Amino acid sequence: MPELPEVETIARQLQGLVVGRTVAGFSSLWHRVTEPLPAKHFASRLIGRRITSVGRRGKFVVLELDGGEALIVSLRMTGQLLFRDDAAHEDRFVRAFVTFEDGTLLRFADTRKFGRMQIVDRADLVEGLRERRAVGTPLHSSLGIEPLSRRFTVRWLAAMLKRRGRAAIKPLLLDQREIAGVGNIYDIEALWRARIHPLRAAGSLTPAEVRRLHEAIRWVLKKGIRYGGASRRDYVDARGNSGRMQREFQVYDRAGEPCPRCGRAIVRTVVGGRGTFHCPRCQRAARA
Ligand SMILES: [Zn+2]
Repeated sequence: MPELPEVETIARQLQGLVVGRTVAGFSSLWHRVTEPLPAKHFASRLIGRRITSVGRRGKFVVLELDGGEALIVSLRMTGQLLFRDDAAHEDRFVRAFVTFEDGTLLRFADTRKFGRMQIVDRADLVEGLRERRAVGTPLHSSLGIEPLSRRFTVRWLAAMLKRRGRAAIKPLLLDQREIAGVGNIYDIEALWRARIHPLRAAGSLTPAEVRRLHEAIRWVLKKGIRYGGASRRDYVDARGNSGRMQREFQVYDRAGEPCPRCGRAIVRTVVGGRGTFHCPRCQRAARA
C-alpha cells in the first residue's frame, strides 16, 4: 500500500512529466473511480484544463489545474499512476485514463479497485485548514500535519501524544487526522528506530523518546523517498519502475530474523488488525 514516500516519488516524477500539458479527454472504465461524480461530469470539469503543478498531500497525489481546482488521486491498496507517451492502454487493470492534447496519457491502474479520483478546490488541501473547516470532501477530509513540513516539530508531536495520551502509539501514528502519510511500513520502521514498543501509551513517552520518535519518523520517510519507495507487491512509480526501499527494511516483514541492532529475533504481532514487527529487546513493552 503506497505511503508518503511512494506517493511523493510518483508526484515528483509527474511534476516533470505532465506539468504544462492540457487535458484533452478523460475515460473511466470502472464507474466508482470518480464517485460521487459520474465520469461524464468529471470529464467535463477536466477537459481543457492545464496541469500547473504536481504535489502530494498525505497519501494523495495532487495534480493542480489552472483555475484553482485540483485533481486528487487516492491510490489506496493497489493503485498505480503511470505516464505513457503513446496511447496504448493494454493493461486490463486500467480503471481510468487522462489523455493530453499532445497524445500522451496518464493511466490509473488498480487491481483491487479501491483507488479513487476527485476534483476539489485547491484551497481545501492547504495544511492547517481543517480546524476551520466545517465539512470536508470525503477523500481528504481532516488530513493532519505533514511530517516532513516545518510545522511538524518535537513540540507539536509532544503535544499531540499528550492529548491522545491513552492511545497505543502504533495505531496512533497511522491516524491520518493527526499525521498525514504514515502507513504501516514506515510506522513499524520508525518505532524500531526510536526503540519504542508499538503498544506503549502515547502519553507515557519520555521527552527523550518523543525526540527520538520525531527524528525516526522523518528519517524513515526521507529514506523511503531517497530509495524511490518500497515495492512489495503492486507499487511502481509513474514510469512503471519498482522502488528499492524494501531492501532497506530493518524489521518490517523480518519475523525470526536477528534485530540489526541487538541480534534478538524480530517478532510479529497484530496490533489494531495490522501485522506489526518489533524487537522485544530494543522495544520494551513498558519502561523499566
Ligand atoms: Zn533489538
